[in-house]
Amino acid sequence: MDLHCHVDLYPDPHVIIQKCKEQGTFVLSVTTTPSAFSTTKLIAENVPNIKTALGLHPQLAHERHVELDLFDSLVDRTDFIGEVGLDYSRGFKQFSEIQNDVFTHIVKKCSEYGGKYMSIHSRSSATAVMDTLEKFSRNNTHVFHWFSGTLKELQRAISMDSWFSVNIKMFSSIKGNLLLQEIPKDRLLLETDGPFIKSRGHILLPFDHDYLINRICDLWEIPINETMLLLNNNLNNVLNSKRK
Ligand code: MN
Repeated sequence: MDLHCHVDLYPDPHVIIQKCKEQGTFVLSVTTTPSAFSTTKLIAENVPNIKTALGLHPQLAHERHVELDLFDSLVDRTDFIGEVGLDYSRGFKQFSEIQNDVFTHIVKKCSEYGGKYMSIHSRSSATAVMDTLEKFSRNNTHVFHWFSGTLKELQRAISMDSWFSVNIKMFSSIKGNLLLQEIPKDRLLLETDGPFIKSRGHILLPFDHDYLINRICDLWEIPINETMLLLNNNLNNVLNSKRK
């Protein structure tokens, strides 16, 4: 599985999609603007294991907030939302107000429907993201992508019944490893965040998960077949949790 991948941003998405189809990899193909949704969905049409998500990336909120009407008009075409959220890191914090307006609008809109799987970006903003979700999100499934908040914020996210899609980069920092140890085994999902992540010299593809699975195996200290079983159960459970 790859629960957070920018399929449309690889140099040749068609080749990637064909390989995902052959390998049966479940892929959440996230988008960064509502205007990218329809074409991204089209290139993966007739591939049941690739789901296209409708998104508006927080780093683009100040430029693309005008696309919220388009977001609203597309939201009933998919159960998958992402990439959405907030980013208060350097370079983006000055746009926090417009980011909050955009994210709040999106969460409220999703809650009118319910049953949405949301792939959520929360860099330097996990508390604000959770405040917004607690206030406005109803009957949606929250999946924190590449969670990098504090341990305390992680505990809050866990208590809110959230899920976590984790990638190989999280294993390369001390803080990332601490967070990984605290994420419950039954709440962990895999992602590449490709094509933005390189591992051992090459850009990760959605089906490049052997190395990540091995690292999770070491983290959990259980055999590989048990690890795979748990991860597959998690995928089934998160997809079934998109309750209305
Ligand atoms: Mn991303």
